[in-house]
Amino acid sequence: MNTSRARVPNAMESIDESFASSSVEVPKAPPSNPSRRRSDVSGDEVRMQKPRRAAPADAVRPTRAEVNLANLRHNFHVAARHAEAAQVWPVLKADGYGHGAPAVARTLERAGARGFCVALLEEAIELREAGIRAPILVMGGYYGGAYEELVAHDLVPVIYDPSHVEGLVRAAHHVGRAVRAHVKIDTGMARLGVRPEDLAPFVERLARQSEIVVDGLMTHLACADAPDANDAFTDEQIARFEAATALAARMGVAPRVRHAANSAALLRHRARFDAVRPGIAIFGNSPVASDVDLRPVMRVRTEIVGLRTIEAGESVGYGALFRASRRTVVATVPMGYADGLSRQLSNRGHMLVGGRRAPIVGAVSMDMSMLDVTDVPGVALGAEVVVLGPQDGPHGKDAITAGEVAAHAGSIAWEVLTSISRRVPRFYREP
Ligand SMILES: *Cc1c(COP(=O)(O)O)cnc(C)c1O
Repeated sequence: MNTSRARVPNAMESIDESFASSSVEVPKAPPSNPSRRRSDVSGDEVRMQKPRRAAPADAVRPTRAEVNLANLRHNFHVAARHAEAAQVWPVLKADGYGHGAPAVARTLERAGARGFCVALLEEAIELREAGIRAPILVMGGYYGGAYEELVAHDLVPVIYDPSHVEGLVRAAHHVGRAVRAHVKIDTGMARLGVRPEDLAPFVERLARQSEIVVDGLMTHLACADAPDANDAFTDEQIARFEAATALAARMGVAPRVRHAANSAALLRHRARFDAVRPGIAIFGNSPVASDVDLRPVMRVRTEIVGLRTIEAGESVGYGALFRASRRTVVATVPMGYADGLSRQLSNRGHMLVGGRRAPIVGAVSMDMSMLDVTDVPGVALGAEVVVLGPQDGPHGKDAITAGEVAAHAGSIAWEVLTSISRRVPRFYREP
């Protein structure tokens, strides 16, 4: 595996046409006061929080997340088929939806991904340091003043505020070349982006600024996964995006790429434009009712560490939330809410033992939870328990999806996956 530091491509190297660096010369500014500067090109002044997760070598507990890289590649190819002419830029924010962004990005880059999206600057830097060469779009809108760092790592920021323009212009002067950015339009999400009514002055400002090359125009859809009846909302967002594009073009800003689609839009063949930004679909979960063949990438498994038989009337766990109505075999598994198993699953949902469903009983505690395994014959200490994903055992073959866990926890698949905590080591599989 390549873990060497990424070589930062220079301005003249076009990694990819749609993110191509500009060769426009910008006068180089005298070095700014180093004490005020947040970082320099060498990056050694950078004080950025590094995500730390349990490494497989640290694993003593049998609780682990297995990441199936073949399924990841499969999902990427499914996304590429649905994207048709548009490029697929997988979204790897939140540590690649909990799967471990560096390993996921390396796999997808080799599988042909020509760009990635993340939310945070530190997430983008983590990918560069993991050796990722493909263009990386930083979508979160917060750069903490570290524009020079952004440029030094050859990252592409999403901008929508005059402060972003000022920061990027400063960074461009620092490196002596124009820098690239994508402009975000708020077409109805009301989260980030330039409101359509504010677009003209913003674009006018950008058109005057030779230091910034607007490579892309983007928006984000609020209701792409809504049932068909609610398509009017998406139609309206697309219409506003088209209008914004036309306005920008009239004012001399005509980006090479436009992108809007998340997984739901992509799978429904809506708003594909020049590039698409699927996240959850890449990890094997379809946010829309469709028979598309996506395969779950993460499987969370553990083993039974405690086993007892309680009598009818006895209770289980904190608060005695579960009371047995019959003689009950209770299995204890080392996976609790600090591992990302929602406490909302207390007395709700299942895990798989021997290929059969066993109900979660009692309150989920911080490090452990309990199962009713009375109906699973021959359960012993050390038996494998699957919290998420498939299991093929002596008593059957079944799977627990992130969507199912989410339904029990009053949540969504996105939250289930990104909640699996750093205490759970990730093991990468190439089956
Ligand atoms: C998270 C995110 C996506 C991906 O969404 P999925 O529903 O996981 O496909 C795309 N674009 C933006 C701006 C996002 O924040």
